Formats: sequence, C-alpha cells, structure tokens
Amino acid sequence: MLEIKCPYCGKRSQNEFSYGGDAAVKRPELGKEVSDKEWDNFVYLRKNPRGNHREFWHHVAGCRQWFKVLRDTSTHEIFKTARLDEEL
Ligand SMILES: [Zn+2]
Repeated sequence: MLEIKCPYCGKRSQNEFSYGGDAAVKRPELGKEVSDKEWDNFVYLRKNPRGNHREFWHHVAGCRQWFKVLRDTSTHEIFKTARLDEEL
C-alpha cells in the first residue's frame, strides 16, 4: 500500500486518493486555431513512461484538494508532492 503525502494534510493511505492524470499535458492556447490532430492529441493521447512521471492526484477522502506528484512509475516511489501553484 502506498502512502501519499498530501501537501495540505500530510501522509495518508493511497485509498484516500484518486489519480488525476498526466500533469505535463498542456492545453492548447485559448483563441488559437488548433488542428483536429492537435486537439485529438491533447484530449486522448498520453505517454506511458517508465520512470519519473508528473501526475495530478486528488485527495478525495480528505481535504478534496488537487495536487501534483512526482512518482517513479516502475517502483511507485514518490519523490515529491506539491500544491498546484508550486513547482514540482
Ligand atoms: Zn489532503
């Protein structure tokens, strides 16, 4: 069982959290013309890296805040967590 350190509550069991996706994906700029392929890539395509990965997590059964996690996808080791307005 993983323990995840919520930046607001401290360490809690993984059961209290929900994975929220890749934190490295950038939404296309508002008002800018975007091709169907660029939009399709933004909405559907994700990398599946082995190693360090920046992720969004949601503390669903706690403070209900979203935050960022830097995690190794092969070992599940969590190196750092940060609020959304902080650098990860
Ligand atoms: Zn929390």
